[in-house]
Amino acid sequence: MERRNLTDPFERYGLTRVVNASARETAWGAAPVSPEVIAAAAATLPHSVDLGELHRAASALIAEVTGAEAGFVTGCCAGGITLSVAACMTGPNLARVEQLPDTTGMRNEVVLQKGHECNFGARVSQMIRLSGARVVEVGTATDCARFQLEGAITPQTAAGVFVLSHHTVQVGLLDLSAFAEVCHARGVPVILDAAGEYDWPGFLRAGADLVIWSAHKAMGGLTAGVIAGREELIRACCFNERGIGRPMKAGKEGIVGAMAALERWVRLDHAHEAAEVRRKVELARSKLEGTKGLTLEVRPDTSGQPIVRLAVHVEPGAAGLTAFDLGQALAKGEPKINIYALHAERGYLLMSVVNLDDEGVDFVCRRIRGIVEAAKGSAARVHPPARHDLVLKGLHAFPGRPPKARTGRKAAE
Ligand SMILES: *Cc1c(COP(=O)(O)O)cnc(C)c1O
Repeated sequence: MERRNLTDPFERYGLTRVVNASARETAWGAAPVSPEVIAAAAATLPHSVDLGELHRAASALIAEVTGAEAGFVTGCCAGGITLSVAACMTGPNLARVEQLPDTTGMRNEVVLQKGHECNFGARVSQMIRLSGARVVEVGTATDCARFQLEGAITPQTAAGVFVLSHHTVQVGLLDLSAFAEVCHARGVPVILDAAGEYDWPGFLRAGADLVIWSAHKAMGGLTAGVIAGREELIRACCFNERGIGRPMKAGKEGIVGAMAALERWVRLDHAHEAAEVRRKVELARSKLEGTKGLTLEVRPDTSGQPIVRLAVHVEPGAAGLTAFDLGQALAKGEPKINIYALHAERGYLLMSVVNLDDEGVDFVCRRIRGIVEAAKGSAARVHPPARHDLVLKGLHAFPGRPPKARTGRKAAE
């Protein structure tokens, strides 16, 4: 009989291993969690703990690391957006907290640049509306001026939300300082969704009153959302865990995981990390060079992180397949390779190396070469299917048949 390691969830549940040559997307299990964070969570999980006390300790640590006055840990960054908006509407008023999402008697409008209304897996505007607030979009998709933001702010404005992400439009919009300046001149607090970014002291200096990020993205923590900012607003976030924030709460493991990840973050040699990323990107470039139909280009990060990625441009005529097809083929193997394909319709894939060691880089490059070398198609299709058509197909197919080793599990037991 086939022997399986039944304590390994990949074997037990028949899960396909994933080599992530993309970012640290939540949908791909986010960042690989570091051993320090796993150890901290494992040491906490068997015990009872006073969660209020744990939150106070987390607040002090978040403040120390970011330079904010205080901090709060919630379920995830998306939940953090809803919680922060709720906090700006209710303040420390428990009657108002219990009243939400009915906002009668409260300021309930949230200004958002139209180019920031993006879909990170769900829509930013919906995370705002979930609190009961009304979203007021400002400007057009590709531009927003001060006068437009000034004109959109009314006595009903509770907050301004600013999104810092590669998902947003990257030109023609107000930057964080300008956005905050206009909001602050009218007494409106600024909430920053910086899910995958990490220059927290810089964001606070630029005028964010609350900064939210995913503990499980850049920082390598367990799933959680961290909020850092002004003490009165952070306190109001805490109030809202007795209301709208309840289904978004972090458990002890999420809070301790975020704390351990922050402490590790402080000790990390970031210059060394950035140099390693550049070295691995160059390694990937050298391994892919000479592949027919591919042109390679090292690109800086668009939202200001000190890292580079490798753009793999696919010339369909020469390669025999399109960038989209290459991305699809990479996702079909075992293990499956995830590569950033949002620009496939522009003819390129973006390879990130933050989750890969040298062996991983080698593996991904070999697979790319192998797929391109085997491609014989004429690659006539230029436009890949619309992303949402693929998403819908996947949703309608759920739950479908379980992964293949389910039966294997029974056989092994
Ligand atoms: C990932 C992401 C989120 C959501 O983060 P979660 O922690 O998964 O809830 C929100 N906003 C942006 C811009 C993101 O990239």
